[in-house]
Amino acid sequence: MRFCPKCGMRLVQSKGGDGAMHLICRKCGYDEMVRSTSTSTSKVKEEKPIIQVLGEEEDISVMPTIKVSCPRCGHDTAVWWMLQTRSADEPTTQFYRCLKCNHTWRHYA
Ligand SMILES: [Zn+2]
Ligand SMILES: [Zn+2]
Repeated sequence: MRFCPKCGMRLVQSKGGDGAMHLICRKCGYDEMVRSTSTSTSKVKEEKPIIQVLGEEEDISVMPTIKVSCPRCGHDTAVWWMLQTRSADEPTTQFYRCLKCNHTWRHYA
């Protein structure tokens, strides 16, 4: 439990417009972003996590969509994500997953 450094009210967890969790003071409007994976507050640089290959149960509703034709069923919309391999020599691979049939394929940019 955290308390507002300004007025001492209990902070309330709320999901912000940026998708991150925030601690909000309902009294004075104090707003602090929560970094769920880190207890350190010294980090100011926002790190973008590398998105790994998705499992069948992943929530794809938050993924960006793209207009692309599915090679299996012909549906015109898929979600996409990038996967950077460990080797810097290899190009970043773009993955698509069909919103209709869940077929997943890769695209070499
Ligand atoms: Zn406050
Ligand atoms: Zn499809």
